[in-house]
Amino acid sequence: MPLITMKQVMADSLKKALDPNVDPKERYAVGAFNFSTIPEMVGIVEGAREAKSPVIMMLSLGALKYIGSLELVAATARGIAKQYPEVPFVLHLDHATDLEMIKHAVVCGFTNVMIDASSESFETNIAKSKEIADFAHKHSPYGINGCSVEAELGMLAGHEDNINVSEEDAGKAYTDPALVAEFVEKTGIDALAVAIGTAHGFYKAAPEIKFDLLAEIRKNTDTALVLHGGTGVPEEDFRKCVAMGMSKINVGTGLKKVYTDAVREAIATLPADEYDPRKIVGPGRKAIAAEIAAKSEFFNCAGKADAVLKSIY
Ligand SMILES: [Zn+2]
Repeated sequence: MPLITMKQVMADSLKKALDPNVDPKERYAVGAFNFSTIPEMVGIVEGAREAKSPVIMMLSLGALKYIGSLELVAATARGIAKQYPEVPFVLHLDHATDLEMIKHAVVCGFTNVMIDASSESFETNIAKSKEIADFAHKHSPYGINGCSVEAELGMLAGHEDNINVSEEDAGKAYTDPALVAEFVEKTGIDALAVAIGTAHGFYKAAPEIKFDLLAEIRKNTDTALVLHGGTGVPEEDFRKCVAMGMSKINVGTGLKKVYTDAVREAIATLPADEYDPRKIVGPGRKAIAAEIAAKSEFFNCAGKADAVLKSIY
């Protein structure tokens, strides 16, 4: 199957999030995971296959700088999609700010792009997000609506590649539930990243998620909601966010640690006369796959691949 859009991968989850008659335990979110190398991309999809879950793979601007080419990433993702037809997955560009670069990603074949104008005024955020939504919905090589769009309202604290927001600044900028409906309507976006107390990177102390704020936001819009800063959020908080209608959860930093730890261990135990890179990178790829499968259980999206495919085809 071809790559699918984030709107498609979250459609079934969103339906369950919005239906008050659905048992909150039946709700689920799709996991979104950062990569910066091809073995990580393959590990992410292999983990999703193992868990029979849908998955989103994310390219940060830092990872793009390292890899050097949107075309290379898009072509690799298309190749992976052919090799793993049973896994519904999305190729997503995360926290991008340069409008021309985002449009280039759309044309290259990314199936979701995030325009992050959250540090700008409300009006500028709307104007930029709308420009990207209009473009992405029309200009994907996969046809009309072949690429969906995520935007952000409010600001998350923390550090991740090119993003640096102090906790003090972010505290002033939780997502304002009163602005959500207007933002979604005026921009035409497909998913909204919300700032409700999580942060990028590792936490010094467990984050305090504002569940009352999430409830208000969920009430005020029927668009899909995204939680950034998933590394280190306690399992019960993930489950609560999902039960309250979160459709996508981002995990970046935690996955880097899992990969690096496995590679470090592989190098330490490699006999001195062995020179096979597969014996170093391979365990990293396997560790990523195991982590994706574990997170799919927390997000309750394990076993949901078929439901996602049925909602599309
Ligand atoms: Zn983020």
